[in-house]
Amino acid sequence: MSRTITAKFGGTSLADASQIRKVAEIIKSNPERRYVVASAPGKRFSADIKVTDLLYSCYSEFAKGDEYSGTLAKIKARYAEIVSELGIKFDVGAEIEAIENELRYYPPADYLASRGEYLNSKIIAEFLGWEFVDAAEVIFFDENGNFDGEQTFMTMSARLRDIPNAVIPGFYGSMPRGVIKTFSRGGSDVTGSIVARATQSDIYENWTDVSGMLSADPRIVDRPRTIAHITYTELRELSYMGASVLHEDAVFPVRKAGIPINIRNTNSPDDPGTLIAASIPADIKRSPVTGIAGRKGFTSIRVEKSQMNGETGFGARLLYIFARNGVPFEHCPTGIDTISVVVNSSAFDSKREEILREIKNELSPDFITIEKNLAAIAVVGEGMVSARGTAAKVFGALAGAGVNIRMIDQGSDELNIIIGVDDSDYETSIKALYSAMIQQQ
Ligand code: ADP
Ligand code: ASP
Ligand code: MG
Repeated sequence: MSRTITAKFGGTSLADASQIRKVAEIIKSNPERRYVVASAPGKRFSADIKVTDLLYSCYSEFAKGDEYSGTLAKIKARYAEIVSELGIKFDVGAEIEAIENELRYYPPADYLASRGEYLNSKIIAEFLGWEFVDAAEVIFFDENGNFDGEQTFMTMSARLRDIPNAVIPGFYGSMPRGVIKTFSRGGSDVTGSIVARATQSDIYENWTDVSGMLSADPRIVDRPRTIAHITYTELRELSYMGASVLHEDAVFPVRKAGIPINIRNTNSPDDPGTLIAASIPADIKRSPVTGIAGRKGFTSIRVEKSQMNGETGFGARLLYIFARNGVPFEHCPTGIDTISVVVNSSAFDSKREEILREIKNELSPDFITIEKNLAAIAVVGEGMVSARGTAAKVFGALAGAGVNIRMIDQGSDELNIIIGVDDSDYETSIKALYSAMIQQQ
């Protein structure tokens, strides 16, 4: 039986007609690429604006009652140029008119945002001569806006089973009564993963503008190494911590079905890219650390109370105070008489007074210390479990760079070491860790 590939193409891969031609060539070069998931046109040059961002601006103008026709005209012009350069028959004017008509019924912002992928996918389907399958008919969210996997997989597999080739727009689906709902930003990666699973694809190709997952942020480290092989778990850790090449939720649907993800570069299609799977083939040699990623903007709330360890439920009660206030915690390193809760500053700042008051009233701690402007860096690698001295090397690298470590948290699966440093030491730390843990390995 022949293989099936689901290929998702990101915004820069589809930013204009010449990019769409490259994509069509990639698709046609392998007939196993049967299902294509497309993003909205992204940036053509660094100062350009993504169509999705234009759509959000357009919606906010519309919602405020401001003039939005200028922004809508820019969106129309992007598609009109693509259509004319591809030389296909496609009535952009009629599509834009249909969108304007819909605005009369005050749709949610998600509706307008989704039109970026909707139009681009219709255009690409026309150019390829393939069927267009609207995501609103095959991807579902429940009444509360949560993704409904059961209904989605059932409907989508049945729908696509008899269609040899289809283009499906990324980023959105529908709620009950057909109300359009999007995933969070970058969500076309999630759509691609869902389509790969529903069609029982052998591989999920994710085509973007870099030749795979890099072992560190290219804006900080000069030409970091590409990761050839990585596990789903490592990828999830790295993408959660800010290595933003793939949406952090894109792993789940394919992982359940054991479908590997291959990140590839539309502008350099012969590069093998990064292969993401449940485990690494035995003959592949890797260093203990696979990648480094991080984010700024955390606050640590350190609570100290002597003999805390004897007080049953102290940690649970502390975390519950944060949960009750709607502030999720990111890390929670503990000592014998101390426990720190690390949270996103943006989520914490507005709830700060209530949370501190509740901690004092309900837990009677000896001290509460708050540290702001904390950056969290994750050093990730499944090989760290068996490699002795990795932690020592991490701390040595940071000490050598003159960085003061403000927090350490090692995940219980020994897959990662999370280090808290001052925001201002963030870039220096990433560089030092990359050099010691990856470059010199
Ligand atoms: P697409 O539009 O194709 O979905 P994205 O912009 O979402 O592409 O993701 C690709 C970008 O992610 C790259 O251009 C790169 O700048 C950025 N990026 C950040 N961290 C990493 C990393 N660790 N590895 C690869 N790319 C990264
Ligand atoms: N176009 C959407 C965004 O810009 C979704 C995506 O590109 O994945 O977020
Ligand atoms: Mg993306």
